[in-house]
Amino acid sequence: MKQSMSFIPTLREVPADAEIKSHQLLLRAGFIRQNASGVYSYLPLGQRVLQKIETIIREEMNRAGAIELLMPALQQAELWQESGRWYSYGPELMRLKDRHDRDFALGATHEEVITSLVRDEVKTYKRLPLTLYQIQTKFRDEKRPRFGLLRGREFIMKDAYSFHTSQESLDEVYNKMYEAYSNVFRRCGLNFRAVIADSGAMGGKDTHEFMVLSDVGEDTIAYSDTSDYAANIEMAPVITTYEKSDEPLRELEKVHTPEQKSIEEVSSFLNVSREKCIKSLLFKVDEKYVLVLVRGDHEVNDVKVKNLFEASVVELASPEETKQIMQCSIGSLGPIGVSEKVEVVADKAVQAIVNGVCGANEEGYHYIGVNPERDFTVSQYADLRFIQEGDPSPDGQGTIRFARGIEVGHVFKLGTRYSEAMNATYLDENGRTQTMIMGCYGIGVSRTMAAIAEQFSDENGLVWPVAVAPFHLHLISVNPKNDEQRHLADELYEKLQNNGYEVLYDDRQERPGVKFADSDLIGIPVRITVGKRAGEGIVEIKVRQTGETMEVHVSELNETIQRLLAI
Ligand code: ATP
Ligand code: MG
Repeated sequence: MKQSMSFIPTLREVPADAEIKSHQLLLRAGFIRQNASGVYSYLPLGQRVLQKIETIIREEMNRAGAIELLMPALQQAELWQESGRWYSYGPELMRLKDRHDRDFALGATHEEVITSLVRDEVKTYKRLPLTLYQIQTKFRDEKRPRFGLLRGREFIMKDAYSFHTSQESLDEVYNKMYEAYSNVFRRCGLNFRAVIADSGAMGGKDTHEFMVLSDVGEDTIAYSDTSDYAANIEMAPVITTYEKSDEPLRELEKVHTPEQKSIEEVSSFLNVSREKCIKSLLFKVDEKYVLVLVRGDHEVNDVKVKNLFEASVVELASPEETKQIMQCSIGSLGPIGVSEKVEVVADKAVQAIVNGVCGANEEGYHYIGVNPERDFTVSQYADLRFIQEGDPSPDGQGTIRFARGIEVGHVFKLGTRYSEAMNATYLDENGRTQTMIMGCYGIGVSRTMAAIAEQFSDENGLVWPVAVAPFHLHLISVNPKNDEQRHLADELYEKLQNNGYEVLYDDRQERPGVKFADSDLIGIPVRITVGKRAGEGIVEIKVRQTGETMEVHVSELNETIQRLLAI
């Protein structure tokens, strides 16, 4: 592609509202432009990278036995009502009406559409298993669209769905998809890890997230420093056992603690360690209120609370709700003398507290000398806290460390969640009606592009891995007005393309400094500069990733490029 005729609007300044590297660089290098919050145009360079990623995904999906189709983004509400998600998905689902006042949604995901499609077309076990996928635009009205392509409201996803007659068959395809995903992200050059994720039930063997390691990631990964254990922090079980100290029990006493609300304030005011404080938080678990207790130096993991109660929604109660239910404010909550309407559950660590401190459910007062069992009871002690760095790894090997990750893919065993609700059945060998078992598998295609940009850049711009680079070669003629230079560059442009390379040719009448700065910003793996020594048939090569430069005679160019692009 000739740069003079292309559309690569580069920017010198860092756009003010772009907070992270990938967002800044994709804007500055002319790969994307924002249209509305979380809505982007992919400019020619961006579109080429997307296509490269999509090709890798297609190759791996096809190899794993999945078959491509394309489903509509515009989806009738009836399907979402059948699955129940019309009522549970919340404001993230973009809803609209047609001219006949009928309800529609813009697809946030396609379980409903695919389940109805397969339900209507597949009637017998002979046609199963079946894995279908698409690469398509998704719509989610995210609460906080941010970080450019990382969290958009309109974004590109590869979504696959598999249908089975048995759990074993699902397990087999799940493993194939897991492999395919590992291949995709490896081929994209990414430093990633597959981690155990939240499956809505404890155990977590049935879902993995693929995380690109990056400080700007929104997820925290808990991993073992010695084994290959890695889990989303939400999911990692805590296996610590807590010893009770044998100090003599003191009497329960209510003390005045004016204006002391947070654990830090209370522990320093009363001069007790945070480990001795009981943190009490009121949650709304579906329709009921639950007081959750954890040790002062721990944090409540709401996913664990959700799983304990097998609830669909768990939210912290608002200050108003708290006042109404507990007759005091959030900073004074505690488990002693709580009304029967509120269930109290506690993390296992709380059980081992001796002579602890908790809120007195009265403004400005706390209890000291608090002893669980003697002074209050709970309905259950369970693992309800977030794992922390330094905790033992759940697989029993090593110690937990944290890293940040960007979720680029998700594989999930759905079971019969959708097939049951939407009546997707088949006839088995004995002519009996059975419910299909399902899996689903997503890759954020546009998010993957941003994740690559996040991992591959330096102070001068992007540094694309060869497999996903918009072009292989950036050919620059330093001075197109010079006939010798222009002729050689034109000739190389033709030749290199004939040899199968994708070439971006900077033939613009710009100052060399501008061309080189743009070239570094865009980040094509190998640059070929035709300059002063054109007459001798000598060009300069620069490797974007290492900065290595060399002068090469055109007769050796092909060989050199082959070697450099094979990295
Ligand atoms: P997240 O926790 O980041 O919101 P999710 O759990 O909602 O992700 P899925 O529903 O599993 O994501 O979607 C499959 C994939 O689509 C994700 O792994 C992610 O890569 C991508 N994705 C999800 N939401 C967005 C978004 N708002 N913008 C870009 N990509 C997204
Ligand atoms: Mg989401």
